[in-house]
Amino acid sequence: MADQYDVIVIGGGPGGYVAAIRAAQLGLKTACIEKRINKQGDPALGGTCLNVGCIPSKALLDSSWKFHEVSDSVAEHGIKVGKPKLDLATMHARKDKIVQQLTGGVAQLFKANGVTWLQGTGKLLAGKKVEYAPADGGDSQELAAENVVLASGSVPVNIPVAEIDDDLIVDSTGALEFDKVPKRLGVIGAGVIGLELGSVWARLGAEVVVIEAVETFLPLVDTQIAKEGLKTFRKQGLDIRLGARVTGTEIKNGKVDVGYADAEGDHSETFDKVIVAVGRRPYTENLLSPDSGVTLDERSFIYVNGQCRTDVPGIFAIGDLVRGPALAHKAIEEGVMVAEVIAGEHTQVNYECVPGVIYTHPEIAWVGKTEQEVKSTGEPYKTGVVPFAANGRALAAGEAAGMVKFVSDEKSDRILGMHVIGPQASELVQQGVVAMEFGATTEDLQLMVFGHPSLSETVHEAALAVDYKAIHVAQRRRKKK
Ligand code: FAD
Ligand code: AMP
Repeated sequence: MADQYDVIVIGGGPGGYVAAIRAAQLGLKTACIEKRINKQGDPALGGTCLNVGCIPSKALLDSSWKFHEVSDSVAEHGIKVGKPKLDLATMHARKDKIVQQLTGGVAQLFKANGVTWLQGTGKLLAGKKVEYAPADGGDSQELAAENVVLASGSVPVNIPVAEIDDDLIVDSTGALEFDKVPKRLGVIGAGVIGLELGSVWARLGAEVVVIEAVETFLPLVDTQIAKEGLKTFRKQGLDIRLGARVTGTEIKNGKVDVGYADAEGDHSETFDKVIVAVGRRPYTENLLSPDSGVTLDERSFIYVNGQCRTDVPGIFAIGDLVRGPALAHKAIEEGVMVAEVIAGEHTQVNYECVPGVIYTHPEIAWVGKTEQEVKSTGEPYKTGVVPFAANGRALAAGEAAGMVKFVSDEKSDRILGMHVIGPQASELVQQGVVAMEFGATTEDLQLMVFGHPSLSETVHEAALAVDYKAIHVAQRRRKKK
């Protein structure tokens, strides 16, 4: 008899491990199959995010920012230190320790909640059966479940013009492991991952050139915010080349020649290392038997409805494997939703209010619609924009670059979008998420009391600015209609 579960989750990333924990909390007999072996050679939960994504990249972003501050900006605070020395091995060891702490923590949570972690590979068969191949090479087993949650995540996109060799040409995982700072670093792709990893190595002293095929910088971000970001990042020394498509790479004398074409013709640059960051794709290799009945959409994501149900009753798919932004918190909320739906509850993810964050410095964060999106609908709207330069706390901290922007419906005053470039943008944007979840109007924010001095006051002022009521910036008074 096959082992029988209420829920089998395939993949133990933020989507899968959360789904498993929530299902177990709800009293369901749950197993999670995860095949990852970490760089220490041990089985590991936590997926891309905890092992080679969100967490290690943020550890390096924070460490490299501290290095940059000590090198460049503490002097203006009246603190004199000598030229700092980089100990990259310690920086990596710190990052690895955080990763191990968090992935080990997920294993503890599995134990505490009674989730069975099956170390190895899972494959969905027909009839809600799952084939489990243990990582230790043991015999494959057939398991049965009332419900299966597919959560196998995503992997980096490879392009034939820049094939990964895990030495000179690397993907995001390799870019977290350089054992010395490359003198010249090429980054292919100016998306979130390219900008974050490019920033890490630029702060540590690399000369970084980012080559991006598309003319528009961060096309999904509000244009005003993206423009400010481009200006700031270029000022920081990131050499961002837009409208430049990589056409080939060649390894010569231990370096990489990268050919690219832009409107002016063909060019070539030589780098010590190249990071390929041209996006991620859903990971479906060997996940589905041909008769599983689960279908893919036109972009090779597993097809799901708004509740993450696939075409097969009892089979769900979540996270990077399905449509929507490839973000850990989106995967997490889908994990919670499917566990609760399986338990008979009526949970929904509000896809309108999923924040996006780019952990550059300053950070960029947003929720809801950009001004260009709202404009394209033809509906009347209003905006309020206030710079951090008008904020006492930001000035005191030496973090006055950037702005907060609201886009609101002209008639109803409902907040349609909030966009931030500036200090703690990842934290500030959450105020917009809360407001929008509650269907707030700009007036609701205008009438709230914000602590002084705080960065959040710029959120308040930007809401006030929507109706020409900001106090700390001069706004031209709107003529009464
Ligand atoms: P994953 O985290 O990819 O987990 C899927 C797991 O399933 C993997 O561990 C894999 O080994 C396992 N698996 C696959 N197939 C099988 C199988 N057949 N059997 C058993 N196991 C299987 N997102 C953010 O929100 N914020 C960030 O700051 C952020 N930074 C990032 C930085 C980098 C460098 C990268 C690469 C990504 C970043 N992301 C970030 C994206 C984030 O990592 C993903 O959105 C998130 O991990 C998706 O979660 P998931 O559970 O869908 O899949
Ligand atoms: P994202 O999907 O946000 O991770 O961003 C990946 C970026 O890589 C996109 O902006 C793509 O336009 C860019 N890109 C893809 N292929 C190439 C290429 N051959 N040369 C330069 N940029 C590319």
